[in-house]
Amino acid sequence: MQNNKRVVTVIPGDGIGPECINSAMQIIAAAGVDIEWEERHAGASVFKQGIASGVPADTIESIKKNRVVLKGPLETPVGFGQKSANVTLRKLFETYANIRPAREFPGVPTPYTGRGIDLVVVRENVEDLYAGIEHMQTPGVAQCLKLISRKGCEKIVRTAFEFARAEGRKSVACATKANIMKNTEGLLKKTFEEIAKEYPDIESWHVIIDNCAHQLVKKPEQYDVIVTTNMNGDIISDITSGLVGGLGFAPTANLGNDVAIFEAVHGSAPKYAGKDVINPTAVILSAVMMLRYIGEFDAAALIENAVMVTIEEGKAQTGDIVGYDKGTSTSVFTKTIIENLGRKPTKWQARNYQPIKMPNISGNPVFVTPESRRVLGADIFVEWPQDAESLGQSLDKIAETSDFRLKMISNRGTKVYPAGDAFPDCVDHWRCRFVLRDTKADASPEQIIELLTKISAVHQWMHVEKLLEIDGEPGYTMAQGED
Ligand code: NAP
Repeated sequence: MQNNKRVVTVIPGDGIGPECINSAMQIIAAAGVDIEWEERHAGASVFKQGIASGVPADTIESIKKNRVVLKGPLETPVGFGQKSANVTLRKLFETYANIRPAREFPGVPTPYTGRGIDLVVVRENVEDLYAGIEHMQTPGVAQCLKLISRKGCEKIVRTAFEFARAEGRKSVACATKANIMKNTEGLLKKTFEEIAKEYPDIESWHVIIDNCAHQLVKKPEQYDVIVTTNMNGDIISDITSGLVGGLGFAPTANLGNDVAIFEAVHGSAPKYAGKDVINPTAVILSAVMMLRYIGEFDAAALIENAVMVTIEEGKAQTGDIVGYDKGTSTSVFTKTIIENLGRKPTKWQARNYQPIKMPNISGNPVFVTPESRRVLGADIFVEWPQDAESLGQSLDKIAETSDFRLKMISNRGTKVYPAGDAFPDCVDHWRCRFVLRDTKADASPEQIIELLTKISAVHQWMHVEKLLEIDGEPGYTMAQGED
């Protein structure tokens, strides 16, 4: 006989993770969903075994096979040591869309109660600063590459619009810092504005991310779906969680075309680990999202309703809501939800969910093919312990015997040579912009290498960026104060 049981990889995780996951699994079993859980591990216990990624091979195999994961939070050392196993999992399986709903819960008092908050942050999940490409440029200057691709933007923007349609939502706002980071954040804005035209049934607009944060605090009910870059999304989705009662209530889905990982927004909250006091709602609601993803719409509604009845009636309230001295234990809270299966809340209406259509985007690494491109010059980053004037004079002299001229030097983005009106507090990290004397030419790699060789004889350089012109437009930004 064929076994139709759905197999799902379950990762209990660290800290409070196992308690939350155990609660969700008990409720799913009580709701009668036939899931076979394949338990695997990642995070702290795996780091301790000496596996630097925090994700062992049998976990990867299990996820590859089952394609659906329910996951507890994983601990990451802050500021040192191993990379986040969470981010590794998201990236390994290209779960590029992070869906973070925040909806007012009946019976969870907040300063926003009654305002009708019901929004979803759709956060790009694998690019941006989370590409995790960092280098010390000099002993005192660190750099992190913010990588944003047109392909990544298209995937997340299409997912946001498709998600809005799947949930019957009316609008999608795109939140970026495109006013400052014109190439990276600007690429999301540009992509959004182009793709929005394909979804005329959904209202769309752009908002600068800092104003978005401000608006979320002032008038959160104006938002329906917000699509944004990874770092922005990380921060504003914690704000939106806070608006509706805190991290204990914030579920999330990491969606890709092949694999989906469901987890809470919160982390391992180590101070509460093993105490049977935490709120498992975020993981339970993540499991509800998972059930919808695998097509178990009735079971998802059954559990969502039971959670809402429990919260609404207020007979079992966890410590994060009423204080840990009088809160209901995690196990009793779980038992109460199970007892409430089959009941409907008075103040919560489940949405009419449809399966989400994930975008079908080409796997070709080349996603944009311009009609023309050329290299106008190069930014060469030099370590220099003295002032701008002495470096500028030295580089001017070196450039005399090359095909380039030194256009300017900036320090932390502000032009300092030739001297302007700015008085930045300089560090030993200088961006030296060289452009071809022949303004119509295309700089060859050999020309740039020749220039680098000349500079190397006198100065220490860290890295080089070509100055690209793509379809006649500069593919780089100007320094502050550069003409
Ligand atoms: P955190 O674990 O989310 O905890 C922050 C605070 O949020 C807790 O101290 C607690 O607030 C509240 N909280 C979180 N979950 C709760 C729950 N289920 N019930 C009740 N209250 C809850 O954040 P963190 O302390 O910054 O991070 C701890 C570790 O988790 C770090 O190693 C971090 O890297 C990791 N982390 C993992 C993930 C993930 O796996 N996806 C996400 C974020 C962080 P009060 O103190 O006010 O009671």
